[in-house]
Amino acid sequence: MCGIFAVIGAENAAAELYVGLVHLQHRGQDAAGMITFDFKDPDNGIKISKDIGLVSTVFNDAKLLTVNGQMGIGHTRYPTVGVGDAKEVQPFFNRYPDGIGLAFNGNIVNYPVLKEKLKQRRVYLSSSSDAEVLLEIFGYSYGKEEKDGAEAVYSAVRKVHEEAIGGYSVALIIANKGIVAFRDPNGIRPLVMGEKKVNGKKSYAFASESIALSIQGYESIRDLKPGETVFVDKDLKVHSKVIEAGKPAPCVFEYVYFSTVESVYEGMPIYEVRKKLGEELAAKVRKHWPDMQIDVVIPVPDTSRTAANSLAKALGVPYEEGLIKNRYIGRTFIMPVQKIRENAMKLKLKPIESVIKGKNIMVVDDSIVRGTTSRRIVELLRESGAKKVYFLSTFPPIRNPCYYGIDFQRKEELIANGKTIDEIEKEIGADKLIYMDVEGLHKAVGTDKLCTACVTGSYPTTTEHTKELTKLREKHLAQISSKC
Ligand code: SF4
Repeated sequence: MCGIFAVIGAENAAAELYVGLVHLQHRGQDAAGMITFDFKDPDNGIKISKDIGLVSTVFNDAKLLTVNGQMGIGHTRYPTVGVGDAKEVQPFFNRYPDGIGLAFNGNIVNYPVLKEKLKQRRVYLSSSSDAEVLLEIFGYSYGKEEKDGAEAVYSAVRKVHEEAIGGYSVALIIANKGIVAFRDPNGIRPLVMGEKKVNGKKSYAFASESIALSIQGYESIRDLKPGETVFVDKDLKVHSKVIEAGKPAPCVFEYVYFSTVESVYEGMPIYEVRKKLGEELAAKVRKHWPDMQIDVVIPVPDTSRTAANSLAKALGVPYEEGLIKNRYIGRTFIMPVQKIRENAMKLKLKPIESVIKGKNIMVVDDSIVRGTTSRRIVELLRESGAKKVYFLSTFPPIRNPCYYGIDFQRKEELIANGKTIDEIEKEIGADKLIYMDVEGLHKAVGTDKLCTACVTGSYPTTTEHTKELTKLREKHLAQISSKC
């Protein structure tokens, strides 16, 4: 998962990119970058700045002054391929044709195959990133067009859809031409667009999440349709077309974990979905375990707070903050290797003994992926004197890998792989483990037109080539582990 932001028509594109990326920081903490273009200096208009680190570390005031212009694209990285080194930091840039930069969120399932194909075409790839492959495919096709403009853009995106399998949202900057944004044919990864008018002057922006736009005064925010491409040219004319429409399958994990609670995704406020998830879980508890003695409901901060609160209300049980998150530690799930995740977990959560001691605790988490966090939480609660620990997950058991940009690409790393709920309960050490079910998930989101492949095993794209992808990820993770 990553965060992307693009803007055109701004007074100061870098300033907007910075604010946008800060509000997308939760989508990737590994690296950040931006490319801007200054229409007032078209021959020397492209500026690139990127590095490993958080947005605020990479872009101090001095750095921000080096990127200027009226349009730009930005990226905050969460690695799902690659070895996490500086060569993979996005956006990528190619001088030919025209000067094109690309930032991308998602995963290309057939990346190893495409990489091989490009090698045969004698294209030198400088990184282990699938973003670079997308840029090559787009650029090769765009460069073959006789004329630039919307039709050339559409034809290059069509080529990307033909070649690349996966979940992807992409933002491109074409020097002196404009900004392009597009979504994969199933709309697996999110991408929204907004516009604003300041002193009669229009600007347009695109982002992985609506909060990065609304916080900056953008209005008329809408999701790009699955397979839709939008090209905003230098005169701020908006061209848009659905190039290839597949079955809509936006990632349901965005609602539960990935997106921030202030965002709206596919027209549904994340906050409202999480509230409903809590109510759905409460209904399940009342139906199946009506005699369960619960003294207090606590959330695992921060993502599950909204659901835990609504669950406590629906059950008529006190809601308390029993675990406090160290605000200087990032999201442990999105850290690339287990060793780093485990170390971070030791630093991340602190219990409040007065809330926990001698009580039957119902603890609510957004999901259980590898079980690292869940096991540690149960241990912490017991060490703090909890009488009973009931563990609730607002997401069903994850038994299948995600190939679309969330970093659990191997079955073996999933705690629910091949296990019953009782076995998982035993493994995390809880007195009771209760999961959300798929029906409850659909009810909370208000639709079943979603990707739920990690739960159901039914993938919206072909899974051909996933073996090669998993093998490559294993190789890259081993390389990252050896550096830790
Ligand atoms: S497999 Fe799961 S995490 Fe991956 S895109 Fe689908 S719903 Fe999201």
